[in-house]
Amino acid sequence: MSVCLPETFYIRTFGCQMNEHDSERIAGMLVGMGMQPVEQPGAADLLLYNTCSIREKADTRLLGHLGEARRLKREQPERMVVVAGCLAQSRRESFQQEQPHVDILLGPQSLHELPRLIEERLESGRSAGAFAEETTRFSAELPRARRQGPLAWVQIMTGCTNYCSYCIVPYVRGPEASRAAEDILAEVRGLAEQGVHEITLLGQNVNAYGAEPGFRGKGDFSGLLRRLSEETPIERIRFMTSHPKDVSPGLIEALAELEPLCEHLHLPVQSGSDRVLEAMRRGYTSADYRALVERLRAAVPDLSLTTDVIVGFPGETEKDFAATLELVETVGYDSAFTFIYSPRTGTRAAAFADAVPADVANDRMTRLVAAVQRSALERNQAYVGREAVVLVEGPSRNRESEFTGRTRTFKTVNFAVPHKAEAAPPPSESFEPGSSLGSASAANGGAADVSVGDFARVLIEGATSATLRGRLLGAARADRAA
Ligand code: SF4
Repeated sequence: MSVCLPETFYIRTFGCQMNEHDSERIAGMLVGMGMQPVEQPGAADLLLYNTCSIREKADTRLLGHLGEARRLKREQPERMVVVAGCLAQSRRESFQQEQPHVDILLGPQSLHELPRLIEERLESGRSAGAFAEETTRFSAELPRARRQGPLAWVQIMTGCTNYCSYCIVPYVRGPEASRAAEDILAEVRGLAEQGVHEITLLGQNVNAYGAEPGFRGKGDFSGLLRRLSEETPIERIRFMTSHPKDVSPGLIEALAELEPLCEHLHLPVQSGSDRVLEAMRRGYTSADYRALVERLRAAVPDLSLTTDVIVGFPGETEKDFAATLELVETVGYDSAFTFIYSPRTGTRAAAFADAVPADVANDRMTRLVAAVQRSALERNQAYVGREAVVLVEGPSRNRESEFTGRTRTFKTVNFAVPHKAEAAPPPSESFEPGSSLGSASAANGGAADVSVGDFARVLIEGATSATLRGRLLGAARADRAA
């Protein structure tokens, strides 16, 4: 090769956890090529944007970043600009025409092609791209550069075959494809050996794990959960995302029975109106969804429930929106991601008439957010006065003297570390399991120190709609017997 490889890289990730996971794999490949990560784009020889096309906001933000990349490339023309992920796949023609400073375009099913494309770009001087339509290689099989800590994502499947009318995912990530259970089990055992206590299984529709025609493995999603619980030492298991129409009796049983499965389910409802749900092609009615929630709560009384809701879908009337509001108030969510509908080119809904005017959609959004916050506050206040077991993730984002972590029910808990002044300040590597932010012993009658990656007993003393605040009581045993 006549031209030298870049020495440093900067990655900016947009969108969902799957993209965050894919970025860890992209970083792993670049490190494997001898490059070093940097925190600032100006310090990088290679700029990579891992994109998302689900929401318009991520789309708009990307354009701002590409403007900065153009300026940086003007300063240093050998700098390489890579756009990866869903937008690279869905907008490749417009990128090629409108963003000539982009050197490489890489669809989400083609991440493993990146090293080859970098070399091709350096050798030929021409822009390069790869846009496979189906999964031939899971990103989970690529090397990984994971931020150390007690949490990890584990990809179990990719793609989606549901074709909800508003969603671009099936067009950019291809049809559902599931990883072999043995590969998933081996990855989870390895993570546990590295000090990971909690995994989140990732897929666009995890409940459909193993259901696609031609799946060469055995077993469905609840079978996989059972094997992970019985054949690995991992203490906490979460998963996302679950499609309500695919929540099976076996999955509900698993949630009730398997100790490592956390009492939390993200169950996107999207709308409370049957008319809108049908236009969205969601495959369930509002009554189906409520009945499912009843079955889930009967089986797992402490279940925390989070959701996604879209307002302003084409043709949504005030009556439709009232049905959504009523559902949100009745179900009682612990939190919700709320979105104003925006058309995605290539989806069925993009051609629907009866767009909801922006001022109407904004007003509905305001009322929806208020309802979600009321519900979340009420559910969080029920924790006040109770003791919770928290897996310590690191220093709190807003107060350096505090730890942050989550309960099994996915509640963020911030809690003070007593006598912080006596403890050494956390080094930047303090996210590694075992690093200590301080000792709880003086204030807690000899309780053990609590460190990142430990389970802590915390007395909950306050709640907002978003977080809980508490006081450290001491170290806890792992949620699950070893
Ligand atoms: S289930 Fe629907 S919303 Fe979710 S990824 Fe598939 S098509 Fe998109």
